[in-house]
Amino acid sequence: MKILLIVIDGLGDRPISQLRNKTPLEAAKTPNLDFLTKNGICGLVEPYLINERPESDISHLALFGYDPKIYYLGRGPYEAAGAGLKLREGDVALRVNFATVSKNLKVIDRRAGRIEKTEPLILALKGLEIEGVKFLIKKSYGHRAVLILRYSTPGVKYLSGKVLDGDPRRIGVKVKKILPLDNSKVAKFTAKILNEFLKKAHLILKNHPLNKRREAQGLLPANYLLVRGAGEIREIPKFKEKYGLRAGCIAGGALYKGIGKILGMDLLKVKGANGFPNTNLRGKILAAKNGLKKYNFIFCHIKAADSLAEDGNFFGKKEFIEKIDKNLKSILNLKDTLIIVTADHSTCSLLRRHCRISIPILISGADKNTVEKFSEKNCRKGKLGKIKQINLMTKILKYAK
Ligand code: ZN
Repeated sequence: MKILLIVIDGLGDRPISQLRNKTPLEAAKTPNLDFLTKNGICGLVEPYLINERPESDISHLALFGYDPKIYYLGRGPYEAAGAGLKLREGDVALRVNFATVSKNLKVIDRRAGRIEKTEPLILALKGLEIEGVKFLIKKSYGHRAVLILRYSTPGVKYLSGKVLDGDPRRIGVKVKKILPLDNSKVAKFTAKILNEFLKKAHLILKNHPLNKRREAQGLLPANYLLVRGAGEIREIPKFKEKYGLRAGCIAGGALYKGIGKILGMDLLKVKGANGFPNTNLRGKILAAKNGLKKYNFIFCHIKAADSLAEDGNFFGKKEFIEKIDKNLKSILNLKDTLIIVTADHSTCSLLRRHCRISIPILISGADKNTVEKFSEKNCRKGKLGKIKQINLMTKILKYAK
């Protein structure tokens, strides 16, 4: 049996009075999800927690059955892989924001006025090398980019992902000097050269003609690189080795593409898949359907339910769920395919953040229960019961046999 895993990011939620005390999923008209529920089983997934609240990257690893305590690389590597950078073992990757700082390095805007055109700035930073370490930058989107530190001799461990963020995550305060997270020589070395790089980059950026022009136009200059989420690239067992499955990944957001790629999935490109509410849902579901001809496992990630909930937009979340539902019609009668619909974590619209409440899940194509509608409440009564996120893949594979 083939497997189609659809992850609706941040799907689960709490009841909301403006939705007549229903959750966005419960309030949404979802005939197709309900069809899958009726012809399958449902239940609840307990999110994997390292910190107080679930994080998308860690949750996805758990969802794929990779213990985050062993396999989590840090956010930087996934973002870098998703942005299309070819990574080498031993590289250190970080997320980057083009930002605006004052003369004394206080953060004025963490996104440099949401600058879009960063290509000339990235070009100006090309080729910087410090003590044998190359610094490679690639744009991901808007003001965001990724940074790779690469030692010239491959395979030699000279760099460490154990360095703290430079991004203070607040405005009005000074950018942070990069500090090593442990006492190792490599962490200290990495922090030192990263500080040197950021200083050089600041000098280049603040004098760049594009920024001079922006200032003359009254726009914020993108004169500083705020870095965070450092992590080292290392080999981890690929999906194929671990499960014997040929896997394809369909996603709009760089993070999710990166997770798929690092786990050895092939990226299936879909025009207009962007991780936003106007993403090409039709194209994604179609790509999933076609992908199943070639692959045993398709991971299809849909982002915007999470971002809408983080904006407190529960009406938008409900509508987006309805939009997803409409597009599922074409896969209702897929033969010999196990369809799973779930989330990486719940996102509570009223709290405007990820929350630790259990995640609804449906598995269609193997067993059956008597639940009529896909919702958090009904999933409590489902035949699947309550399952730990880290054990989910094992369960799925059992059903797919
Ligand atoms: Zn998420």
